[in-house]
Amino acid sequence: MHINTKCVQSGYTPRNGEPRVVPIAQSTTFKYDTAENMGNLFDLKESGFFYTRLANPTVDAVEKKLADLEGGVGAVITSSGQAASFFSVFNICGAGGHVICSSAIYGGTYNLFHKTMREMGIDFTFVPPDISEDELRAAFRENTKCVFGETISNPSLDIIDIEMFARAAHEHGVPFIIDNTFATPVNCRPIEFGADIVTHSTTKYIDGHACAVGGVVIDSGNFNWDNGKFPALTTPDESYHGVVYTKDFGRAAYITKMRTHLMRDIGAMASPQNSFYTNLGLETLFLRVERHVSNAEKVAAYLSEREKDGSITWVNYPSLPGNKYYELARKYMPNGTCGVISFGVRGGREGAVKFMEGLRLAAIVTHVADARTCVLHPASTTHRQMNDSELAAAGVSPDLIRFSVGIEYVGDIIADIDNALKEI
Ligand code: PLP
Repeated sequence: MHINTKCVQSGYTPRNGEPRVVPIAQSTTFKYDTAENMGNLFDLKESGFFYTRLANPTVDAVEKKLADLEGGVGAVITSSGQAASFFSVFNICGAGGHVICSSAIYGGTYNLFHKTMREMGIDFTFVPPDISEDELRAAFRENTKCVFGETISNPSLDIIDIEMFARAAHEHGVPFIIDNTFATPVNCRPIEFGADIVTHSTTKYIDGHACAVGGVVIDSGNFNWDNGKFPALTTPDESYHGVVYTKDFGRAAYITKMRTHLMRDIGAMASPQNSFYTNLGLETLFLRVERHVSNAEKVAAYLSEREKDGSITWVNYPSLPGNKYYELARKYMPNGTCGVISFGVRGGREGAVKFMEGLRLAAIVTHVADARTCVLHPASTTHRQMNDSELAAAGVSPDLIRFSVGIEYVGDIIADIDNALKEI
């Protein structure tokens, strides 16, 4: 089926007389007739629901839909995108392990890796997103367990060369994990280009209405874990009745371990209610992404035009001809990239603040990828403690405006920018 149809229909097929819409199974637990029934579930001999921390029918429907959309064998949805990033790495890399990570990633992921996971004994090497293949190869160590990057990075909008990163990872016997939040499976399905594990903050385009924080990890099922580097997947898990994930679950080894081990022990599961909202968002994802992209392309073209009169000092949007990543964007996302644009305005930091105050339709919020156009000025909000040289080191110029183009009528969005530029 086409990705559009999958967005609407996949993951849930009601039987005769059952609700047409995915029901919210607002229950922590599930009833069985015999202790043996229940025992078989615990032993993973039968599949079924017994406790919502591990599995729930509403959660399950969303997991199946997301796995189908990305072309994976299974998925685990989580309470947030942060939990998904953590689970994706920690499932295969503990103390003493090493991870190679693109430096162009969401700041929250950077903090998680650079601070919290380093405190857990995991080492990280951050490499530029546009690193050469030879330099990338040189970053591998004996204890490297995975490579991590973002399809389109937040907020810098760098595009990663998925095939090149996957190739280098595979040459060294480790998987390539990619955060596909900004592209969504509508615009890019990284598994088709060799990525092994895909993550998302579903809080962004997938929910799309800014009502449910969530995340997901999707397993392609393609990586061969049986190469001696991942004993936790290939030797008995004594904490789970001695199962050997690769032997007992085949291509679903990684994602099964995530549920039975990490979800059991850490419990960062998605609630049934939030899963219901996530599914509603998914139903219209295809439609919304098309509109986000067509609106953003028009807004980016308008902003480029305004560079001529000096109101706008620079525009960064990967689908814009002349952008450093234009060719990679065309290769991996031929139907368009995302709705997020960054740009600078005349007057530097002060100009940016005046511009923000002049906006009426675009709301100032700490969010992106929302149906409603929203905007953030990092230098006066998320990065306000930094001076101009610290901002430069973080890749955030004082005039940088992150503009998340929504799905409203594009003429109104452009008129809002036009009016705000007059305030500078
Ligand atoms: N990954 C990316 C690319 C993000 O933009 C974000 C949040 O902005 C996250 C992960 C973290 O997701 P969440 O806020 O749902 O925890």
